[in-house]
Amino acid sequence: MGAAPRIEYRPEIALWRLRASIQACTRCEALVRRRSRVVPGDGSVPAKVVFVGIAPGRLGGDRTGIPFSGDRSGQLLRRMIERSGLNRVFITNLVRCNPRDAAGRNRDPTTTEIAQCREHLLAEFAIARPRIVACLGRIAWKELAGRATPFLPRQGKPVEIDGMLFFPMYHPAFVNRGAYPLRLYTKDFARLFRLCIRRGIMRRGLTT
Ligand code: URA
Repeated sequence: MGAAPRIEYRPEIALWRLRASIQACTRCEALVRRRSRVVPGDGSVPAKVVFVGIAPGRLGGDRTGIPFSGDRSGQLLRRMIERSGLNRVFITNLVRCNPRDAAGRNRDPTTTEIAQCREHLLAEFAIARPRIVACLGRIAWKELAGRATPFLPRQGKPVEIDGMLFFPMYHPAFVNRGAYPLRLYTKDFARLFRLCIRRGIMRRGLTT
């Protein structure tokens, strides 16, 4: 018998396939009816850090097709990532379609919508294989780190589950509306970066 064929696994191709299947998702009737676009996660694969928000914004991802882009939350998150020195990150959400109310305003996704989209999130994790998952806001934290785990972003204590470290952070919208100082948010990103260094995931001064 000859040598077994080598199957090459290319994460970019796996992600491309996953994106196509996410784009075709019609599980949540209320979201499908009102969405302009489906917004799969975006960024480097494999990734060192995955950022998980709630759902694409009406003025952001729902228009651009890219999570955390085109709105103030996206601008702040991306500025913080760049300034803190983090690299090879992947950005996604609990839910991939914009949830809006009857008046067309952003609303939080329901627990059913989050549950229906979880398979997509887990498939993104399986391709990105992050060591650290930064949970942006209480909703992402409760969903990923467990309802019983207190949300304490100022302490920045990660929780390890299935080989991934879940790291609590405020959502950028919370900072944009003045509920948390930008100065402290900058420090939180610096703490995340230091965690990456301590764990040997990143090195200072390297941008790739
Ligand atoms: N944009 C996103 O992609 N997610 C959020 O949670 C907020 C804005």
